[in-house]
Amino acid sequence: MQTSAAKINLLDLDRQSLEVFFTQWGEKAFRASQVLQWVHQRGVDNFEAMSNISKALRTRLEEATEIRLPEVVMEQASRDGTRKWLIRVDGGNSVETVFIPEDDRGTLCISSQVGCTLNCSFCSTAQQGFNRNLSTAEIIGQLFVAYRALGDTPKGERRISNVVMMGMGEPLLNFDNVVKAMNIMIDDFAYGLSKRRVTLSTAGVVPAIDRLREVCHVSLAVSLHAPDDALREQLVPLNKKYPIAELMAACRRYLDGVPHRKITFEYVMLAGINDTPKHARELVKVLADIPAKVNLIPFNPFPNTSYTCSSPEVIKVFRDIVTRAGLVTVTRKTRGDDIDAACGQLVGRVMDRTRRSQRGAAAGARGLE
Ligand code: SAH
Repeated sequence: MQTSAAKINLLDLDRQSLEVFFTQWGEKAFRASQVLQWVHQRGVDNFEAMSNISKALRTRLEEATEIRLPEVVMEQASRDGTRKWLIRVDGGNSVETVFIPEDDRGTLCISSQVGCTLNCSFCSTAQQGFNRNLSTAEIIGQLFVAYRALGDTPKGERRISNVVMMGMGEPLLNFDNVVKAMNIMIDDFAYGLSKRRVTLSTAGVVPAIDRLREVCHVSLAVSLHAPDDALREQLVPLNKKYPIAELMAACRRYLDGVPHRKITFEYVMLAGINDTPKHARELVKVLADIPAKVNLIPFNPFPNTSYTCSSPEVIKVFRDIVTRAGLVTVTRKTRGDDIDAACGQLVGRVMDRTRRSQRGAAAGARGLE
């Protein structure tokens, strides 16, 4: 018998790859839709149940492929309804997925990498360095798991109305796997989410923004965090490679030909760093000719950070300046705080805690790793 590692995991394949796969087997392309429906809409993870597929083909699938889900190792629910799943993707690596219910929507926040290479100075994921990219199966597996846990069905009431690629990692640096997973999210035979309700958040990988426009034109969020290059380089080192002017040009290209869409610009509020009225006015200038929304994110502290969050008053002054300039500006509420599910707290904090408990108090005192 083949080992599990040699088998193709069908969760890794979007419609296009499934069609290629079945065509190579001499099967009709519509098998792709059938498998997508069984797996993603009905949550079936065995071939036995796939009754519209012949016994012979099921046996062949059984031999050569598998439907292997990432393993949920912990589930937590916050007082405010936020839910969080810790998902083990292999022996040493876990990622987190968070569901955030709001009055008018339910958003699932998905991770794209274990760790991150970008080293943003205010992000706890940066502290753990980079481990590896997640496979398509591990990315879509997060939606599979949450969809089932929340009791969603394709035709019934659905709690997950939106997906944001805003968990751990830089999604555009895991481009192919992320795009395949998003293709499955928006496929009518799978999760059927509209492109507008799937948002990819990036620190600004300019060439990949252009590629994304061509292959999977989902909503875009850009982590700006500073209105000038000098400050942005300190917060988001990737800015040295792709400075603000180039990033804004890429954003304009992204919206070219789609008149009603906007890009969301994320801006983390760091006390005394990027939160003065002057910064707000400069931000307005940077965004002057881009259809934009602004999302102010109160900084979420984590162990060993030197940053603190701006006060609510400072955030309000900042927000008023940006709003008065005509930009829709939302201050993101911190959700799931009691289960460490807030922005920038994912797994980093869990890992920090595990590391500390494993290595004892002395290791905890070592500071940043
Ligand atoms: N790499 C992608 C997605 C990751 S994080 C990106 O940079 O957009 C999603 C958002 O959370 C980003 O805007 C990120 O800058 C922000 N974030 C990271 N750490 C944070 C923290 N400690 N407090 C508040 N927001 C944080």
